Amino acid sequence: LSPVPSDIEISRAQAPKAIDLLAQEIGLLQEETEAYGRTKAKVRLSLLDRLRDQPNGKYVLVAGITPTPLGEGKSTVTIGLVQALTAHLKLNSFACLRQPSQGPTFGVKGGAAGGGYAQVIPMEEFNLHLTGDIHAITAANNLVAAAIDARMLHEATQTDKALYSRLVPSVNGVRRFSPIQIARLRRLGIRETDPSALTPQEVSSFVRLDLDPAKVTWQRVVDTNDRFLRKITVGQANTEKGHTRETQFDIAVASEIMAILALTDGLGDMKTRLGRMVVGSSRSGQPVTAEDLGVSGALAVLMKDAIKPTLMQTLEGTPVFVHAGPFANIAHGNSSVLADKLALKLVGEEGFVVTEAGFGADIGMEKFFNIKCRASGLRPNVVVLVATVRALKMHGGGPNVSAGAPLPKEYINENLNLVAGGCSTNLKKQIQIAHLFGVPVVVALNVFKTDTQAEIDLVCRIAKDSGASDAVPCHHWARGGRGSLELAQAVERASSQPNHFQFLYNQETPIVEKIRMIAQKVYGADDIKLSPEAQAKIEYYNQQGYGKLPICMAKTHLSLSHMPELKGTPTGFILPIRDVRASVGAGFIYPLVGTMSTMPGLPTRPCFYDIDLDPVTEEITGLF
Ligand code: ADP
Repeated sequence: LSPVPSDIEISRAQAPKAIDLLAQEIGLLQEETEAYGRTKAKVRLSLLDRLRDQPNGKYVLVAGITPTPLGEGKSTVTIGLVQALTAHLKLNSFACLRQPSQGPTFGVKGGAAGGGYAQVIPMEEFNLHLTGDIHAITAANNLVAAAIDARMLHEATQTDKALYSRLVPSVNGVRRFSPIQIARLRRLGIRETDPSALTPQEVSSFVRLDLDPAKVTWQRVVDTNDRFLRKITVGQANTEKGHTRETQFDIAVASEIMAILALTDGLGDMKTRLGRMVVGSSRSGQPVTAEDLGVSGALAVLMKDAIKPTLMQTLEGTPVFVHAGPFANIAHGNSSVLADKLALKLVGEEGFVVTEAGFGADIGMEKFFNIKCRASGLRPNVVVLVATVRALKMHGGGPNVSAGAPLPKEYINENLNLVAGGCSTNLKKQIQIAHLFGVPVVVALNVFKTDTQAEIDLVCRIAKDSGASDAVPCHHWARGGRGSLELAQAVERASSQPNHFQFLYNQETPIVEKIRMIAQKVYGADDIKLSPEAQAKIEYYNQQGYGKLPICMAKTHLSLSHMPELKGTPTGFILPIRDVRASVGAGFIYPLVGTMSTMPGLPTRPCFYDIDLDPVTEEITGLF
């Protein structure tokens, strides 16, 4: 239709096919799915065993140029592309997307189901609770937080003997260690497993984690942009006997448990990773893990359903997996390895799996390659780099674009100078970044109705001159899959080109060097500057044997640099590393660049102002 109706109106106008029918169409057996209502189903991991000998399909990554705060349409391009591949070119395809966070859905950017005629439906189910994975992560994360503070209180207020008798209760009159406690005894080098035979020193080291309150690194999380939780004091009730502590909340999707969900390859591995998570260190400087807290089994129980990807469909009835997390600025921000692995088997050798890496290629794609592909062993065949005329104009020197404010006139009228400026800076640089990894790049220009033919032609020409193997305009937002046919054909061609995939850095490279390589080669910084705190943490992580982990930078998505106001291709800057954390269970070192916050805030007029429910028809309005 023209004008294109709102996202939610389009979503509601299309009746989704029953999820069992879709499951059947893509070759799933009845016992391999668990339906959550009529339009969503979890898919069991036993499918991977059944399809073990099936060759993988082609693997396509959708990344983007540095976006405006409005988003440049990577999700719509991903969905438009699979709609074109399957519904129009009759090639098997799967989209693997991330589950949106309710932070942006109610905050600034809105949902992440795509938009226009390239959406996942029903979009309200996709954008809100889905199948509860983020809630499970929140529950698991906060159970760890509760365990930490309670344990510090109990250790501070009880004798060794009292702690021991409570931690090792009697079963039928005999004291017994639980399997998790036996594992802890082994880690402490105590071979004895008869509770009555431990020496007083062994009892003391067994019952006391001796966590240093100043060195607890684990934070609580909530899936809401709640800026007032950026710094809090816990333990203020009298019952906590003065054991107050300053701490903070992060947005739920930044939890290490989300990263584990995205990177794990099965239940056993997930359980091990959950146990390995380091929550802080003891007064003597030893790392304390979730396993030491005795909570890892309970975490695995909370996460046992979340580990299964959720099957949904596009507007044109093609399959989609939704699994794991967004926020490539403060997390690694990629969907799950498991969903990609399942989808690559399901599409077969000639088919395509299209997945999305959040924000610009400098962050989402860099992490996709260096963290996710390293963990999964999978190698992408093609990178699709999404650009828009509006973002290119911004990088070419156009005025600031902000959510909720009308677009300045430069973004509505033709302006070839601004477009050319953006192409020769940010677009060119992001193409070069993809080439650092040796993968062919197709530029997808996501066309808006204000773009002129001259602007479109200019972008495609400069993109090809800058090394892209192809550059095509995409009209999926206004026309659905048939609007992305040219892109689908370009991707098919590029997927048979030679691919010389390589990582940016070797895992053995020291932590500081790895950070410097990302800063210089990807962001274009002159160098990095470590705060004394960051320096001390890196030394500590090296001593603890975490030096070989890959790096997950927490950096603004609004610039290649750490300064959101610097557009185009900033040069001559030194990247400040304020702090460094370690996500040992997920398996990465997590440097915080500049003032990057791990809890977004709400603007004066957040998206929730427009969201409403009709109590009679139960129709939702205002989601986008
Ligand atoms: P990203 O994944 O890059 O963050 P999205 O695909 O979520 O971006 O798109 C951001 C917003 O812009 C969505 O609300 C979407 O509906 C809208 N949008 C995307 N492409 C177009 C287009 N070509 N014309 C109009 N609106 C669009």
